[in-house]
Amino acid sequence: MTLFSRPRTDLPHSPDRWRQALESALKVNDIASSATPLHESVQSMLGVALELLEAEQGSIMLLEDGGASLALVASRGLPLEVPLGHRTSVGEGVSGRVLATGKSLLLGDVDSDAFVNFVPKSRPISSSLVIPMRIQGRGIGVLNLTMTGSRVFTDEDLRVAQLFADQAAGIINRARLHERAEQRSSDLMALVESSKGLLGALDVDSLLRHILDGGTRLAGAKDGFACLFDPETGAIDRGVFRGMSKTVIRDIVADPDVQRAIDSTDVANIDLPDGSITAVGLRTARGTRGVFVMRADRGLVEDRGDLLRAYAQQCASAVGAAELYSVIERKESELASIIQAVPNPIVLVDARALIVAINPAAEQLFQVSAMFSAGANVVGGLGHDDVEMLLTAEGEMQSEVVAGNPPLVYKVRVTDVRVPGAPMGRVLIMDDVTSEREIAQTHRDFVAMIGHELRTPLTIIKGFARTLLKRVETASPEDQREALSTIDTKAAHLERLIEDLLYISKIESREATLRVEPVDVATLVSAVSADTIQDFPEREIVLDVADKLSWPCDETKVGLVLRHLIENALKYSENPTPVTVRVSREEDELRVDIIDQGLGLVSSDIPHIFERFHQVDSSSTREQGGTGVGLYLCSQLVKVHGGRIWVDSTWGKGSTFSFSLPSRSTGRKVVRLLGTTAQTA
Ligand code: ADP
Repeated sequence: MTLFSRPRTDLPHSPDRWRQALESALKVNDIASSATPLHESVQSMLGVALELLEAEQGSIMLLEDGGASLALVASRGLPLEVPLGHRTSVGEGVSGRVLATGKSLLLGDVDSDAFVNFVPKSRPISSSLVIPMRIQGRGIGVLNLTMTGSRVFTDEDLRVAQLFADQAAGIINRARLHERAEQRSSDLMALVESSKGLLGALDVDSLLRHILDGGTRLAGAKDGFACLFDPETGAIDRGVFRGMSKTVIRDIVADPDVQRAIDSTDVANIDLPDGSITAVGLRTARGTRGVFVMRADRGLVEDRGDLLRAYAQQCASAVGAAELYSVIERKESELASIIQAVPNPIVLVDARALIVAINPAAEQLFQVSAMFSAGANVVGGLGHDDVEMLLTAEGEMQSEVVAGNPPLVYKVRVTDVRVPGAPMGRVLIMDDVTSEREIAQTHRDFVAMIGHELRTPLTIIKGFARTLLKRVETASPEDQREALSTIDTKAAHLERLIEDLLYISKIESREATLRVEPVDVATLVSAVSADTIQDFPEREIVLDVADKLSWPCDETKVGLVLRHLIENALKYSENPTPVTVRVSREEDELRVDIIDQGLGLVSSDIPHIFERFHQVDSSSTREQGGTGVGLYLCSQLVKVHGGRIWVDSTWGKGSTFSFSLPSRSTGRKVVRLLGTTAQTA
């Protein structure tokens, strides 16, 4: 209680006034403890003061928050032109001065120049008391009491009034603190309430909606918008709006005060021609800027600046979280789409060896469904013991397994996946190495085959040469000629094989050069045919060649192609069927067909027949030996000419191997070439 904190001289002297003062103090206490709002309580307190001092008019002014002005909170008997809420600056007027000095005034002289506060001089005022209301030496307001009759205030009245003012000040201060605390807690509740929507929202658009909802609730507004700006261009990137058109929004965003609020992430209350708005800037940790704007009552939002600032911070964190989430989500979906798209089978298991994920390639390979397999134990879950074993083992592992139907060879790598804060799992990635393994196998087969192909003629050459050496003296000239001719044939065979291999190596290393000259095709075909048929003395070749056909090509290389195809046709067909070589011009192409009526090819071999070292695995063709080099070489030689090569073949009926070379010629001539022992038809 402030009741006795004044010096004795300041306290009332008469016991009666003491009692009155005490009674009033109790009344003020009662008023304060009732649940009425502060301004009503102050009005009642003024009533008590008027009664206590038998005054006719009075007022209570309280210091405003900033401490710069006094506002009229309660009054009685004052003229209507002085309304509640009327302000006086501290230091100005009687009340302002009393508050500033802290000294009470007892004014008897109505005409005093200083007495200009609320009472017009024209009114019959006899006396007035102006008392500072203080709490611990700090002024919080002024009590003003006036008499209009003949009675004037005494010094004893002043002392009583001071005692009352002290008491009222303490109680008003407490009530104000209480009211402020209540306001704060209701603000906090409003903040909590408004922030609720922000918590779970990770989608930016719905988050903006929540931001606008909360902002309008805090500002007591209905219309507004919330938006985020593109970090690069500064233009509105995404936004939600309510009760405002896009043009209005664009103008508001362009307003310099709004821009300032955005730049300084602060609150700006701006008066626009069609009402006032409140703009609150926000910025996320990633630097994204945004703003929410409400069409709000200025009086209300001015008190809520701190609250809106605190709310903007919450909004910024929520948008930041949503941004982070969208980055993570994007990364996750990128990763997922990569895993989905890669042709390599991938399986992920957790620390307990339960299947976490299987990509489509693995689904197909193991014939399982990712959806149904998720959560199942990997042991028995994939139907492949080796792969399952690798996934249940520990540490980094590599292995080769055969899996799938048709079976393919896979290189399998398994590693532990360490995700911070999560138990360890394992990921398995498979690489189809079937073709690599096949190529390696082809190479091995090829080396073995070439070895064989080289050795056979060499053994014959060696055998004949030795025999010749031993019997050089005794052997008849015919025997000697026969032996030397065999040696010659086999040496030529060896030479051709080696040449083929060298050609292939040159073509593959792109060192082969093409000498294109006009070539007389008829001459070339007949020369090659005549040469080739020497090894097939019983056979017949029919040449159906356009006459005077000169074609630009590399004679040696085309000759080699012809030789291979004619030799194959002779090799894979039998007497009495002839081999036909047909050469014709088709538009701008030279077309050559080598036709036999021999074994033919099974259709499954046709697509691979020109592949490197491909040999048809049929005992009937294998009997002929061979390396599988010829057709591959032919296709490469034709391709370097810019031509095409293909085969048309029916199993058991024969084959037509054809190639075409780009360019032109004229005329045709049919020639029949016979092996030395073949019968003339
Ligand atoms: P090579 O004859 O030395 O084995 P090629 O590359 O010339 O090698 O031929 C590859 C395979 O194609 C042969 O092994 C043979 O099985 C088949 N082939 C080639 N030409 C014919 C043909 N005219 N008729 C039937 N099969 C053929």
